[in-house]
Amino acid sequence: MASEQPSVLLVEDEPAQREVLAYNLEADGFAVTKAENGEEALMLVEEGAPDLILLDWMLPNVSGIEVCRQLKTRSETRNVPIIMLSARSEEVDRVRGLETGADDYVIKPYSVIELMARVRAQLRRTRPSTVGERLEYEDIILDSETHRVTRKGEGLKLGPTEFRLLSTFMEKPGRVWSREQLLDRVWGRDIYVDTRTVDVHIGRLRKALCQHGGDDPLRTVRGAGYSLG
Ligand code: CA
Repeated sequence: MASEQPSVLLVEDEPAQREVLAYNLEADGFAVTKAENGEEALMLVEEGAPDLILLDWMLPNVSGIEVCRQLKTRSETRNVPIIMLSARSEEVDRVRGLETGADDYVIKPYSVIELMARVRAQLRRTRPSTVGERLEYEDIILDSETHRVTRKGEGLKLGPTEFRLLSTFMEKPGRVWSREQLLDRVWGRDIYVDTRTVDVHIGRLRKALCQHGGDDPLRTVRGAGYSLG
């Protein structure tokens, strides 16, 4: 689905726990994909990295720790935040979990409210536009909660696709995005869209950003894609 809805991969072998957590995440506006074991989790991530992973430690066959270790060694998934869920409470386990590269560690039984707060804390760092943060780049301010964009204090009119494109750019100024990466992020992998469509919307975004004057902040990087600044 094409939206700012953050995607969460939930890896939990206990059906009851998986369903309760999935229900709460969905009620909170997350797009949830569920996996019952480590192999399935790794396969799903291969198809496309989620914005965040909730990973049970104790899983049959491939353990959560092993899944975490594998994902944190791959460049494509290294930056996806992983929150480990564990019935283990020993300090040494917590340390081991974090040493494997997990970004946070929650002990079962956990409070769903606290877990949601931890999820949002991770996303605020990695995908700020999905959790209602205000993003700033030079004279441009994007409020992802109210969907308002201003430049030098003046409101800009943006279509929904241009808004999502700008959110993506403003999360990581200076990063060069290929057309394929923008398609994945802005349109979603389920929809077939031609890469030329990206160029069309970039054109519209440029026009929108300059509707009250000012320089074009978007940069075309030949053979690579686009970046903000
Ligand atoms: Ca388990």
